[in-house]
Amino acid sequence: MTDIAKLDLTDPFARTRALFALPEDVIYLDGNSLGALPRAVTARMAEVVVREWGEGLIRSWNTHDWIDMPGRVGDRIARLIGAPPATVTVADSTSINLFKVLVTALRQRPERQVILTERGNFPTDAYIAAGVAELLGQGHRLREVEADELETALGPEVAVLMLTEVNYRTGARLDMAGLTRAAHAAGALTVWDLAHSAGAFPVHLLDANADFAVGCGYKYLNGGPGAPAFVYAAPRHLDGLKQPLTGWLGHAAPFSFARTYEPAAGIAAMRVGTPAILAMSALDAALDVFEGVTMVELRAKADRLFDILAAVVHELSPELELATPTDPGKRGTQVSLRHPEAYAVMQALIARGVIGDFREPDILRFGLTPLYVSHAEVQRAGEILVEVVRTRAWDEPRFKRRAKVV
Ligand SMILES: *Cc1c(COP(=O)(O)O)cnc(C)c1O
Repeated sequence: MTDIAKLDLTDPFARTRALFALPEDVIYLDGNSLGALPRAVTARMAEVVVREWGEGLIRSWNTHDWIDMPGRVGDRIARLIGAPPATVTVADSTSINLFKVLVTALRQRPERQVILTERGNFPTDAYIAAGVAELLGQGHRLREVEADELETALGPEVAVLMLTEVNYRTGARLDMAGLTRAAHAAGALTVWDLAHSAGAFPVHLLDANADFAVGCGYKYLNGGPGAPAFVYAAPRHLDGLKQPLTGWLGHAAPFSFARTYEPAAGIAAMRVGTPAILAMSALDAALDVFEGVTMVELRAKADRLFDILAAVVHELSPELELATPTDPGKRGTQVSLRHPEAYAVMQALIARGVIGDFREPDILRFGLTPLYVSHAEVQRAGEILVEVVRTRAWDEPRFKRRAKVV
């Protein structure tokens, strides 16, 4: 038996793998973009649709406690990101939550006008920040610098340091605790985007002293396409928390139908309108797979998977180049590779059942999700990649036609 096969025999995550419905003929390495389907979601959706909605009708807001689901599911996510209970709520999308926390943070630093971020941050983060700056009309501006210039760029004009912990293209990870400390020393607040962190590895929001955080429900948390996102505020910000989207479900007493807005106490103030109960139920059921899982163990397996793929890819150097830092402390749990024809290479891989994705201009991206990906699968994916690159199997017109979603 190979060493890789032995790793799978003793893999504590063979148990969680069985909790997912995955096609037989696919090696799924794109859980960083859209998590796989936990089997429990199918049954839960049927239950919620048929019984809670179909039979319970409007009564289910109370009888099935739909109304408090954002906080309840938020608490389940809190456990995965080092946040205390009652500091996280599920709501809206990551982009919208970013808008809310950015305005909230900027208003706490009225004399400062700069939102500082990393140049390679995810587009929506930069777009939202630029939109907020324009909307406020108070001279705010977005300043983008390279990751290694962030600390020195923290000056007295910086109101908010807004960062994504793990870079979506390279998988490089920023030092959340260190950068938060530097930001606070410079008098700035921090907003962290955990899109590629939550559910991927241990995150310590409270210990890192982060001010605000947002993240996705449909990536490593497996909540389904377009799943609601989450938002965190540090305990010190919860008292009197005010955000700009003053909708009725963020009101202190929505069913008093009062004429004026009064924010709810605590993190509930981050809610806006009626929660998407069906979508949130899917996310809630998906979180069951994290029961009994420690993030440290999860990360340890992700590192083994990384090493397996990195070793295979090493054979293809310099044609394929590793874009992700090899130091485990400096990366998330994806493997990014550069190839001049990355798009076509990925299409050829997908045609062979190995699903990852492509990011402009030359990145092949593979998400490592230990909950449902085995060591043998990653090894096999690496071998198929070697074959595709060596034989130039990607060099066909059909692999170069760009789809709408890449
Ligand atoms: C995936 C991702 C998002 C997605 O935002 P949505 O509002 O859910 O579309 C935001 N930020 C980062 C860093 C991401 O990786």
